[in-house]
Amino acid sequence: MNPKWNGQFSCFDLVARVDEKASGKTSEHFRTIVQVRDIEIGGNDFVVMAGPCAVESETQLLQTAEAVAKAGARILRGGAYKPRSSPYAFQGLGVEGLKILRKAREVTGLAIVTEVMSEQDVDLIAEYADIMQVGTRSMENYALLEALGRCGRPVLLKRGMTATLEDLLRSAQVIAFAGNSQILLCERGIRTFETATRNTLDIAAVPVLKAVSHLPVIVDPSHAAGVRSLVPVLSRAAAVVGADGLIVEVHPCPEQAMSDGNQSLTFGEFRHMMTDLRPYLELQQESRQLRPQLLAAGGAD
Ligand code: PEP
Ligand code: MN
Repeated sequence: MNPKWNGQFSCFDLVARVDEKASGKTSEHFRTIVQVRDIEIGGNDFVVMAGPCAVESETQLLQTAEAVAKAGARILRGGAYKPRSSPYAFQGLGVEGLKILRKAREVTGLAIVTEVMSEQDVDLIAEYADIMQVGTRSMENYALLEALGRCGRPVLLKRGMTATLEDLLRSAQVIAFAGNSQILLCERGIRTFETATRNTLDIAAVPVLKAVSHLPVIVDPSHAAGVRSLVPVLSRAAAVVGADGLIVEVHPCPEQAMSDGNQSLTFGEFRHMMTDLRPYLELQQESRQLRPQLLAAGGAD
C-alpha cells in the first residue's frame, strides 16, 4: 500500500483534498459543507441524526421524532425500504413509510434521512427525503450511485462492511462524477475476525478520511456495536476524533423493534448520551485543529 495518503487518494479528484502546497490554499478552503434545509454538516456544528432502524407505524415514528428532537437531534432517521438478510424478515413499509416520515418532518421540523436500495426508487424517495442513505450493502451498486448523482439531494454514503477507505472514496467519486458533490461519508463498522461486536468500528477511519477528503464524515455507532450499551461510548469516541456528526438508532420500546432492537437506545438513554457528549465536543475542536498536521504526517515517506 502506498503510505502517502494524499498520493493514494488523489485519483479521486472530486472528493479528495487538493494538495495544499500546490494550490497555495489552506484546507479550510476545501471543506465541503453539506446544506440540509437550515442545517450545515461539515462546518462547526456536530449534527446528530437519530431514529428507529425502520419506520414501523405513525405512532412509533412520531413519538421517536419528538423525543430525539427534544434531546438535540436535528435529523430523523428511519428506513422505509429495508435491506434484510432474510426474505422472511420485515422489509419496511415502503411508500407508506415515506409518508409517515414526511408527516414527522411537518410536525417536528426535523430533516429526514432514509435509505434507497434501488436506482428505480431514487426519484420517489427524493420527493420525501432530505438526505438519501446508501446502505453498507449497496456501496458498490454503481447504477444506484449514478442515479444518486442526478437526484438533487445530499447522499449519506455508508462504507461497505468489507470496503477499504479507498473503495469508499471510489464510490463517492462515482456520485460526484455523476453530478452530485453533496456527499456525507459514513463509517458504520467493518467486518473483522472479532465477534464480540456486530462489526468493528474503524475509529481511525474518521481522522484519515478528514485528512484526505474534504467531505464531512458521519459515524454510525449503532450498526458497528450491535448492542446498545456500547453506543454512547463509541459516540463520544467519534466526537473526539473529529467526526462531523452521528447517525444513531433510537426506539420507543427496543425489545419490540421489528429490526435492530438490540442496538437501539431508549429515549432516556439517547437523552443521556446527548448530555454526556458535550464535554467531548469541546475536545473535538482540538482534533479539528490537528487535521492539517495529520495530512502532512500521512504524506511523509
Ligand atoms: C440502517 O441504517 O438501518 C442500515 C441497514 O445500515 P447499514 O447499511 O449500515 O447496515
Ligand atoms: Mn438498522
